[in-house]
Amino acid sequence: MQAEEPTRQAASPMPDSPFCPADRIVTRPTDHDWVRRAATRLEQDRRRSADTHLVRLDLPGFDGIPIYLKDESTHPTGSLKHRLARSLFLYGISNGDIGPATTVVEASSGSTAVSEAYFARLLGLRFVAVMPRSTSRAKVDAIAQYGGKCHFVDSADAVYAEAAKLAEETGGFYLDQFTNAARATDWRGNNNIAESIFRQMQGEADPVPEWIVMSAGTGGTSATIGRYIRYKDLRSSLCVVDPENSVFFDGWKDKRRDLTAKQSSRIEGIGRPRVEPSFIPGVIDAMIRVPDDASVAAMQVLSAHLFRKVGPSTGTNFFGVLCMASEMKRQGRKGSIVTLLCDSGERYLDTYYDPGWLRSCGIEIGPWAARIERLVETGIG
Ligand SMILES: *Cc1c(COP(=O)(O)O)cnc(C)c1O
Repeated sequence: MQAEEPTRQAASPMPDSPFCPADRIVTRPTDHDWVRRAATRLEQDRRRSADTHLVRLDLPGFDGIPIYLKDESTHPTGSLKHRLARSLFLYGISNGDIGPATTVVEASSGSTAVSEAYFARLLGLRFVAVMPRSTSRAKVDAIAQYGGKCHFVDSADAVYAEAAKLAEETGGFYLDQFTNAARATDWRGNNNIAESIFRQMQGEADPVPEWIVMSAGTGGTSATIGRYIRYKDLRSSLCVVDPENSVFFDGWKDKRRDLTAKQSSRIEGIGRPRVEPSFIPGVIDAMIRVPDDASVAAMQVLSAHLFRKVGPSTGTNFFGVLCMASEMKRQGRKGSIVTLLCDSGERYLDTYYDPGWLRSCGIEIGPWAARIERLVETGIG
């Protein structure tokens, strides 16, 4: 990053003193000027952004059960990963792991790498994303546009080792979202997503949602929401929805962290082949396994009701919302449900919105779409 302000004199190298002879002292001084400029740039970027919208959806079949979608697609880099990327860079800089010459490396299924490439460029750092070859074209293009490099591997479970290896070889730093998402985000507040949701709900008739429904990629967002609910003593329950080929569901049900899967999730952004360190089981009140066909069908039904396209993980979220809404209706309960609109469907026009692509993946949405549409209209599944 070029110098833009007068630089403060760096601490002088340690002198050779009688108390501390040169052979007993090692120094590795911090570039405080760079750290300050980097932190300032991140803060300026945050100030230029407004909070994301909370969109209210009243479905005909669910009178008295309003649904709210926290619209994370409106961040500058198009997904909820904008928050995570900012936090990971701040965390790395504050830990002394990222400096002016650091090559930053990440393992990602796409969205995180897009946001990180944006922040790397903002800070003038080199960035390499290690991603499965199946990652959508639009994301690969976005990373390249921000000046990031894409490094492809064949399967989702190969990204971790490859990213660590690349960081090692380049003397760079592996951001490691799957480990650090739950550490880098300030779960007590500081305008995190949970605090923002509850603040935006304050004027509603049912300000404390019965359920918050979220899918898990790193698990970081569900961790933030679940911790915040406890920390603030809020009477909301957290439901995590999980797609096929992901081990979060079985890992949570059987209280095991050692499960692994060979196949990759077919719902981009969520579902993992291992129980990620950022997945915090203790804050979750319920989990639902959602069939992939149902996720994609729900994505399309929701898009029609919102008059705009949402991504597939938002479909998984919406399916979970409908499960909880229909159960509340059956029990005669009223109250709100909140979920996330994780990213826009515009990124998936040639994949999840392309009938030919869906056929080639063996995803069949017809029967589910009809069932979901009926549920939305009548409240009866
Ligand atoms: C990462 C991601 C999620 C899941 O969020 P986490 O906080 O990582 O669990 C959901 N949808 C999309 C599109 C994502 O990129």
